[in-house]
Amino acid sequence: MAKIHEECGVFGIFASHKKDVASSVYFGLHALQHRGQEGAGIVVNDDGLFSYHKDLGLVGDVFTNDVLAKLGEGNIAIGHCRYSTSGSNDRSNVQPIVVKHVKGPMALCHNGNLTNSYELREDLEMHGSIFHTTSDTEVISYLITKERLTAPSIESAVERVMDKLIGAYSLILMSPSKLIAVRDPHGFRPICYGVTDDGDYVVASETCALDAVGAKLIRDLTPGEIVVFSPEGVRSITDHIGTAERSMCIFEYIYFARPDSVVDGVSVHEARQRAGSYLAEEHPVDADVVIGVPDSGIDGALGYARRSGIPYGVGLIKNKYVGRTFIAPDQKLREKAVKMKLNAVSATVKGKKVVLIDDSIVRGTTSARIVRLLREAGAAEVHMRVTAPKFIDACYYGTDIDDPAVLIANNHTTEEIADIIGVDSLGFLSVENVVKIPDGGKTKGYCIACFDRNYPTRVPVERKKGRFERKISEKGE
Ligand code: SF4
Repeated sequence: MAKIHEECGVFGIFASHKKDVASSVYFGLHALQHRGQEGAGIVVNDDGLFSYHKDLGLVGDVFTNDVLAKLGEGNIAIGHCRYSTSGSNDRSNVQPIVVKHVKGPMALCHNGNLTNSYELREDLEMHGSIFHTTSDTEVISYLITKERLTAPSIESAVERVMDKLIGAYSLILMSPSKLIAVRDPHGFRPICYGVTDDGDYVVASETCALDAVGAKLIRDLTPGEIVVFSPEGVRSITDHIGTAERSMCIFEYIYFARPDSVVDGVSVHEARQRAGSYLAEEHPVDADVVIGVPDSGIDGALGYARRSGIPYGVGLIKNKYVGRTFIAPDQKLREKAVKMKLNAVSATVKGKKVVLIDDSIVRGTTSARIVRLLREAGAAEVHMRVTAPKFIDACYYGTDIDDPAVLIANNHTTEEIADIIGVDSLGFLSVENVVKIPDGGKTKGYCIACFDRNYPTRVPVERKKGRFERKISEKGE
């Protein structure tokens, strides 16, 4: 059950010849829809002529056949689906951002959040820049555009700008002749590229989007890497690799990424099962059946069942047609959606001692509702196990966990939370084991800051996602 918002999905294609690249981006964004449902955009590049369409809504709603047809053919295209982690949910913030400039047009899309965007933006504004959006992506596009005035190439401009950016950014940029993919030196967010049988290069947030367009994964970008796709071929720029400690978001494996994706060489499906297995070792319980909260609790439940020897059962059914609980970033609407979304299978839980696996507890309201559902369906006992540690603080790197005051674990003990949500027992995966879920602890370098407050970068001066909106209204005339 989703209780926090994820970030964004980015997708780009560099085709071997002029074709219907917009449709490829459409399929790619569809596969990345789980990363953001508030807005979507596609920019098609036909020999330097940029056509674009972007709007609020789901990919399938924003891009009708007519709209796709109007975008026409091209050699390169990029697209984005967004959740508004920085900047409000209004039309002007929908990406990609398109810049028209004397040095040539550029389109840019971004997954992640900068932690110094406030300072960067203020500095740009003090030197005459006028912003049209409230998203930090526009800050990046301004900085690149400025550097393009003196840099020998757009990729050199990107390299220079990387010295100024702090925080999480997986970027895809497009100039008239190049597609450029960038991963920040910490590597917070995933980004990978592959190639189709036709020789089209494809860049995407997750491998599931490569699969959607029939592309084979070549590799993930290394943290700090820039990869340039141009008529001259594929070139990797490595100057920023190793300039920061790898801090891949562990929550990509727990919840954000799709289970059929492989992120930094690790199957998300297997990582989630491993989380369930560690949880069974840490928090065993005498029970009759293990069930998972769809979707991202299912793999954890399989792992718990396998490790504990308690049978796995289907105890909760999701109504597929409701959509994700957080399509609208509004608490009241989310609450209504949750009620329509899940039902308990009494044949599985009636009279049973149930282990309930979920990926996280944020406020506790959703968990309490699910536990009530199970009790109403006749569960004798409900023992909740969570495939993540307790959320105790904000995330500054492109997710919606931004107010510690709403996090139930920030000011309650495990026993208090168990009482509040109405379970017989409760156990969270430990901080020690959560970093082992990708590959058993062999690879190091994961961000777990929302669980341990050990932030890999300095944190922003202003915490809230609406900081620019407030600033504008406070200072407006
Ligand atoms: Fe991921 Fe949490 Fe780090 Fe944010 S703070 S990047 S959600 S692990």
